[in-house]
Amino acid sequence: MRSTMQETPLGIATLLRFASTAYSGSKVHTVTADGLRTGTFAEVGARTAQLAHALHDDLGIRGDQRVATFMWNNQEHLETYFAVPSMGAVLHTLNIRLYPDQITYIANHAEDKVVLVDGSLIPLLARVLPGFETVEHVVVVGAGDTAPLEQAGKRIHHYEELLAGKPTSYDWPDFAETDAAAMCYTSGTTGNPKGVVYSHRSIYLHSMQVTMPQSFQLNEANRVLTIVPMFHAMAWGIPYAALMSGASLVMPDRFMQAPALVRAIHDSGADFAGAVPTIWSDLLNHLDATGEKIPTLKRAVVGGSAVPPALMSAFEERYDMRIIHAWGMTETSPLGSVSQPPAGAEGERAWSYRVSQGRFPAGVQARLAGPDGAIVPNDGEAVGELEVRGPWITGAYYRDEDPERFHDGWLRTGDVGTITPDGYLTLTDREKDVIKSGGEWISSVELENHLMAHPAVAEATVVGVPDPRWQERPLAAVVLREGAEATPVELREYLSGLIPKWQLPERWTFLQAVPKTSVGKFDKKEVRRAYAAGDLE
Ligand code: ADP
Repeated sequence: MRSTMQETPLGIATLLRFASTAYSGSKVHTVTADGLRTGTFAEVGARTAQLAHALHDDLGIRGDQRVATFMWNNQEHLETYFAVPSMGAVLHTLNIRLYPDQITYIANHAEDKVVLVDGSLIPLLARVLPGFETVEHVVVVGAGDTAPLEQAGKRIHHYEELLAGKPTSYDWPDFAETDAAAMCYTSGTTGNPKGVVYSHRSIYLHSMQVTMPQSFQLNEANRVLTIVPMFHAMAWGIPYAALMSGASLVMPDRFMQAPALVRAIHDSGADFAGAVPTIWSDLLNHLDATGEKIPTLKRAVVGGSAVPPALMSAFEERYDMRIIHAWGMTETSPLGSVSQPPAGAEGERAWSYRVSQGRFPAGVQARLAGPDGAIVPNDGEAVGELEVRGPWITGAYYRDEDPERFHDGWLRTGDVGTITPDGYLTLTDREKDVIKSGGEWISSVELENHLMAHPAVAEATVVGVPDPRWQERPLAAVVLREGAEATPVELREYLSGLIPKWQLPERWTFLQAVPKTSVGKFDKKEVRRAYAAGDLE
């Protein structure tokens, strides 16, 4: 029997129409060198329509052609997030921090036709633009010298000039909810980056989940500092979820250093934020060093790599800010699990849930596959590779066969861990980062978490390096706090009370900073490379 329900497609235009009227007064603050500039959701709605007219009438965008962005987090990027999918085209967020040959590969693989670029990023785009084979138009957002772009032979436009005089409403077309809305490439730690294509339906459902109490719990009263870049995993769904929930947005643009973030929090009164752990450890060091406070910021969702429990407790105890640990991937839109403790859990018990990667929402099914591919129980003990499926989990990569990454229709995440009977995930490592020592596995994350709880340690990463006897042994790469001292002997001594003796690293190196990936995670590949090349002491 068919249902009697209407089949109105879930779509981004629906979100936009709704938010620009129901939440017309919600704000989008963008950080500039001179403080905040502010727009409203009503203005975003009108300007989004103008941008869609410009893309259609002046730049000839039709059907599912790709419109790329090479931009920071700002109001114009938000307008692009809505205009491109709502008109039926496909938004492609380019990661500005990838290597030039990767950016070129991605733009050509996606067959981008237009690139929108922030004026401040023109020099970076100019290096790669000549290799963008399918791009015909470049739209410059904000001020910037366009001369470096000119030899690439593309037509150059200016965002505000394109929008000027265009109608402030658009007759958004109808199309299937399963049609492509946006795409994003993984950062490609091995091989070429892989494209993930989100649909209108997946984005809509994912936004509903993001706003829910079990997830980020957003509503019209929130002001969300969106530090996670809009070029990374769709900014964790925050831009779309904000328009769904009415939450105001605070966009840091290129002002991503700790002092600028503190100023943005003060100027905007941001009460919620999202960013990877390294941003928070920088912010913590800055606050500790300056004595500044961030009283309005009450909650932050942190993920992208394991959050050290010491970081969570430092923010909670010293700054009255609660870190909500979450796990996800570009392939999962990205929200996969969130560490809200079960109702009624208090004290140590609540804490043990909160430091885990969290619980899966109803829309994400999860299971663990053991080394032979057989499914192991969710008993909190059995370790396996996490596999997931659901309406906002990718079932393939764009024009890239990779059956290895899928198992009977489930996505293989490459993450290894346990799941408790009540559904909480604890990741011990990425499959490629786990240290294989004499037939046993050492969790690099566990060693890092302990090291980062030591008072002298600002940052620490642990990687497996080749060892003639044990196959691999851990190398600990440590950044000491300013003015602090600690020797390998002292740090080993400290660890020996916390982990089994055979896991203690015998190789140590002290760094000025741990190298970071394009999205701000510890770059373990680079640490391994530097060690192999003899570049580490
Ligand atoms: P990349 O693969 O380029 O880093 P993604 O952002 O898609 O880009 O990375 C997803 C991966 O990040 C996950 O597969 C997992 O290994 C890691 N990750 C994300 N969140 C967490 C977390 N809370 N704890 C541990 N690892 C995490």
